[in-house]
Amino acid sequence: MVDISAASSLLTEEERTFQTVVRQFMEREVRPHVEEMEREGRASDEILKKMGSAGILGAFAPEAYGGGGGNLMTRTIVAEETARINAGLDISLMVNISLVARHLIERGTEEQKQRYLVPLLAGDTWASICITETHGGSNALSPKTRAVRDGDDWIITGSKMFITNSPIAGFFLVFARTSGEDRRAAGGTLFIVDADTPGLSAGKPFDKLSMRSSPTAEVAFDGVRVSADHVLGEVDRGFYYMLEGLDLERVFEGASNVGSLQACLDLAVEYSGEREVFGKKLESYQLTQDKIARMAMGLEMSKVMLYQLIRALDAGETVTRAASVLKLYSSQAAMEAASDTVQILGGYGLMEEYPAARLFRDAKHHEIGAGTSEIQKIIIARETYKSYGH
Ligand SMILES: Cc1cc2nc3c(=O)[nH]c(=O)nc-3n(C[C@H](O)[C@H](O)[C@H](O)COP(=O)(O)OP(=O)(O)OC[C@H]3O[C@@H](n4cnc5c(N)ncnc54)[C@H](O)[C@@H]3O)c2cc1C
Repeated sequence: MVDISAASSLLTEEERTFQTVVRQFMEREVRPHVEEMEREGRASDEILKKMGSAGILGAFAPEAYGGGGGNLMTRTIVAEETARINAGLDISLMVNISLVARHLIERGTEEQKQRYLVPLLAGDTWASICITETHGGSNALSPKTRAVRDGDDWIITGSKMFITNSPIAGFFLVFARTSGEDRRAAGGTLFIVDADTPGLSAGKPFDKLSMRSSPTAEVAFDGVRVSADHVLGEVDRGFYYMLEGLDLERVFEGASNVGSLQACLDLAVEYSGEREVFGKKLESYQLTQDKIARMAMGLEMSKVMLYQLIRALDAGETVTRAASVLKLYSSQAAMEAASDTVQILGGYGLMEEYPAARLFRDAKHHEIGAGTSEIQKIIIARETYKSYGH
């Protein structure tokens, strides 16, 4: 395939070379293990370690902690190429790297970075980020999980729901209310909790429709005691970090969707170029071409916007509304593309021997995770009114 997308022109020569290297790595080291990951409900520690050793995990992180010293675009390229092969592995890595590692880089002490960031970038451990609770993930500023001071320590009590990587994580970033009222950003604190801390327990992985390669479970905090040096950043500022992290996560959801869209297009073009119906290749029918054109359009638009937003984030700009636009648009485009891919494959699209069924299942996740489509519309409308002074 020749890359004819307009978005490529937004990459530097060096970034394009990096993209080729990552793509080859994914084809060689990851693709042969996708079925095993889906079956086992997780990627193996060996794959994670290989990615760490190849410098793929920490490409954007400071060299002092084992990273490659690159910009956020390098992380985007890795996310896109991972999702193109397996969206489940991509969300596990999104948590490890785009969320947890980034919080540690932004606000960790030197000791926290050495202890948690270095092994994460090296691919020696998995990590989790705990925001959602059983009473409703959309209302993220009203957690029931609390942390109270006890001398120099903090005691965390509560539970978190749908936590990616939790059955295999070495440590957790946990958002808990430490002061203030529900639905207020002030008064939340971000804690680092080791998996073996007494009182912390992760449940059994859920059996789920989407993202089967990524383990998800409930996590309970039953009077979990941590010392003050487990606070990440400042006390009572944690929910501001969460909101900032969510903007970034939504942009990275765009990268995941771009990878999924590309995977759909790859499969749909290949299959329709081979399959004959009524004596002619599927690709020669205009009803097939309509599907391919809409897929290519969704991919092109999502990718251009993704790369623009990554450049804006690298320049330190706030992109709240645009991040929601990208998340909403690209997840709708990916869902439609996955549905059309299944359709192009006909009955084979519903069989597990082709990746279309997995692409279809996984695409649905991005209309729900990291803020549902309804929440993105609420944010887009709110930010739009705000910009008019309402
Ligand atoms: C596989 C998987 C992995 C996940 N990983 C993590 C993780 O690692 N860490 C983490 O913290 N969370 C994680 N989540 C949680 C995810 O972010 C939440 O599921 C999501 O935010 C939605 O929350 P909810 O499921 O509680 O739905 P709810 O908030 O209960 O929403 C239910 C429905 O109500 C709609 N709704 C909500 N508010 C409004 C409104 N004002 N108007 C109209 N409709 C509304 C929603 O759009 C949705 O359709 C994960 C979820 C999944 C499925």
